[in-house]
Amino acid sequence: MSRILIVEDEKKIARFLELELEHEGYEVATAEDGRTGLEKALSWKPDLMILDLMLPELSGIEVCRRLRHESDLPIIMLTAKDDVSDKVMGLDMGADDYMTKPFAIEELLARIRVGLKKRRVSESYYPSFTPVITCGDLTLDAGSYTVTCKGTPVLLTKKEFDLLRYLMQHKGQAMTRDSLLTDVWGYDYTGDTNVVDVYIRYLRHKIDEPFGIKTLYTIRAVGYMFNYE
Ligand code: CA
Repeated sequence: MSRILIVEDEKKIARFLELELEHEGYEVATAEDGRTGLEKALSWKPDLMILDLMLPELSGIEVCRRLRHESDLPIIMLTAKDDVSDKVMGLDMGADDYMTKPFAIEELLARIRVGLKKRRVSESYYPSFTPVITCGDLTLDAGSYTVTCKGTPVLLTKKEFDLLRYLMQHKGQAMTRDSLLTDVWGYDYTGDTNVVDVYIRYLRHKIDEPFGIKTLYTIRAVGYMFNYE
């Protein structure tokens, strides 16, 4: 039975979700503030977390950020505001998905199933997985979530890291924006497709420009390609 942690300070919503998820056969725990949520995420070890953005004690973004140092637990963030910057921020801090309140419970259940499936795939994938990819002066270590270029650590957010890793795994291949969105942002990401361009810009700003190298190529009418010897 999969365990789901709900971190939500609005009691009505938390109770509603708890009942619905238990009805679906999940084992459920709840927390009403960010700090308790973070503690339960680490101690109870859920398989997925539903995390409200606006929380007392610690915000959802802060919970996400701290949790990502220790765990790749799938996180679906709930936001009351239809505010792109909050969503991008949440995804940036390592949330896997988000939903804007109010939402249809069926949609949330579908996203939970996707999140849990992704987790199973990655768990079965990792044991035989070589975490270190090196291309020229650039080294990415998926085990420790670190990137170094010419021996200098490069600080990336989780999403920047995921995008770079994906592109490095497909070195020399032109990747379409659609495939990047599907594989890096996940299944049916419905936000702005410009998010890929925005993140490529972030990566160029952190890797290509400061280190005076060229790794990220724009492939006209297709998307992007990583290449670097
Ligand atoms: Ca709230």
